[in-house]
Amino acid sequence: MGKPAATGGRLFSEAAMIPAAHASRQPAPADPPSPPAPLQPGGWQQALRQAVREPAELLQLLGLESVALQVSSQAAAQFPLRVPRGFIARMRHGDAHDPLLRQVLPLDAELRVLPGFGLDAVGDAAARSATGVIQKYDGRALLVATGSCAIHCRYCFRRHFPYGEETAARDHWAQAIARIGADDTIDEVILSGGDPLSLSTPKLAELTDALATVPHLKRLRIHSRLPVVLPERVDAALLQWLSALPWPVTVVVHANHANELDARVDAALAALRGAGALLLNQAVLLRGVNDSVQALADLSTRGLAAGVLPYYLHQLDRVQGVAHFEVDDATALALHAQLAARLSGYLVPRLVREIPGDTGKRAL
Ligand code: SF4
Repeated sequence: MGKPAATGGRLFSEAAMIPAAHASRQPAPADPPSPPAPLQPGGWQQALRQAVREPAELLQLLGLESVALQVSSQAAAQFPLRVPRGFIARMRHGDAHDPLLRQVLPLDAELRVLPGFGLDAVGDAAARSATGVIQKYDGRALLVATGSCAIHCRYCFRRHFPYGEETAARDHWAQAIARIGADDTIDEVILSGGDPLSLSTPKLAELTDALATVPHLKRLRIHSRLPVVLPERVDAALLQWLSALPWPVTVVVHANHANELDARVDAALAALRGAGALLLNQAVLLRGVNDSVQALADLSTRGLAAGVLPYYLHQLDRVQGVAHFEVDDATALALHAQLAARLSGYLVPRLVREIPGDTGKRAL
């Protein structure tokens, strides 16, 4: 499925993709690499403000206004549409089945309430240890840094998360820092959300300055979809901040289809690598988006061309409103086996599911 992926970029060996900050913990270079030039004045915040929020406008931009697509205003009222214009530009004009469009379009199917699909499929509430802090696995603390995202993914496992009360930034990180500081078994902090890079760079610096006072932290991980969906976010200020962090930093980006990556995303990812970050990709296996061997192979090889190694391929988290994206386990396993037969081992993501209460992601 999908148009052929662009795979013409420079290929990187696995070793060459591990930045110096990961290999040696030496300080990153004082001068971070140049960010990609902004597409429009006002930078990334302006691009974020100009994101499309009306399904009718999205369909009109794609020439689909007269196509019967079972778009639901009720689904959009429950979880509003939001999609950056640069991401829309990567969709195929006139294609109602475009794999990027399917990820963002609110449909009637989201309104079905089905058994087995809940509000908190991954057990976030039970793993909460302080405001906006989730601790599921040994040695790691995840901060729900913000409830904001640049894009609203219809399959999102946190689409029902109570961000109003549960973001770590609410009290200027006080509870989160106290909790992390009090537990010297935590050596890795994961910034999640929402999307942590939707916070301003000064706000991120406020957080990492506070984290830097915690002596037992050894690693920082950032889970973000912004470098893919809004590459303008990778600006000079962000790179400067990233380069100056005192820990090895891993940025786990989130692309589900090779068509999400274009030259501008390549430039943003290259700049992140140049600032010392190790780049990994996690994807969700989604019916109608990437549920073919070709789509998954294209995603891995296109990601590698952009300097990103595949990390996880998640089975869908069963939250209400996402059932139409589900791929059954037998099909998922068959796809994964075919992918492993086709690609080098380092290009095959781990096929996993998150089970509440487990001590790690569970391999299928
Ligand atoms: S960017 Fe991540 S947190 Fe935000 S809607 Fe998409 S999947 Fe959910």
